[in-house]
Amino acid sequence: MPRVAGTGIRTAWRVTDDGDFFCPECGGDRCYQRLAGRRRLTVLGVPLLPLGAAGPVVACVLCGTHHPVAALDHPTTTGLALLLRDAYRTVALALLAPGDPAARAAAEDSLREAGFPQTPGDVLVGAPSEAEVREALEPLAPHLAVPGRESLLLHGARIALADGPYTEAERVTLTLVGMSLGLAAADRERLLAAA
Ligand SMILES: [Zn+2]
Repeated sequence: MPRVAGTGIRTAWRVTDDGDFFCPECGGDRCYQRLAGRRRLTVLGVPLLPLGAAGPVVACVLCGTHHPVAALDHPTTTGLALLLRDAYRTVALALLAPGDPAARAAAEDSLREAGFPQTPGDVLVGAPSEAEVREALEPLAPHLAVPGRESLLLHGARIALADGPYTEAERVTLTLVGMSLGLAAADRERLLAAA
């Protein structure tokens, strides 16, 4: 874009929305402004032809970088931490046999190891439905590297194994967990055997 004494294509932006996002440019949770623009050819400071709409884009309030709106699809670091915590809890609940103290202790240990210590208010009760397991894992899977997805499955496997070998029901649930995380059948089998 030429920048010669008021000559060039100028874009007038207006803010249409704002919020928090993860800025891939400056690398952190930031405020953003969603912008819609109108482009005009300007010569010597005089606006001439309208050149149509620009954007929408998402501008980082801190570094000013403009990103495609798709940047909002990536969760913030804070949002990702909440999704992860929810995923670990959901997997634990899905594998907890009711009234099994060994599995409960294994679940609490595994949550603590994953960085989510249980506080007195976090009561591990209520078995999630198949749909709830999918809802907790599928949106998270694209944002996790393979080791992160594998450790979620291992977390479930450890809880399942706390009361002896895998039961048929536990295998079904672990398959659901692995598939919701996008892990291939061979990898799922390898991980369940390794646990
Ligand atoms: Zn930024």
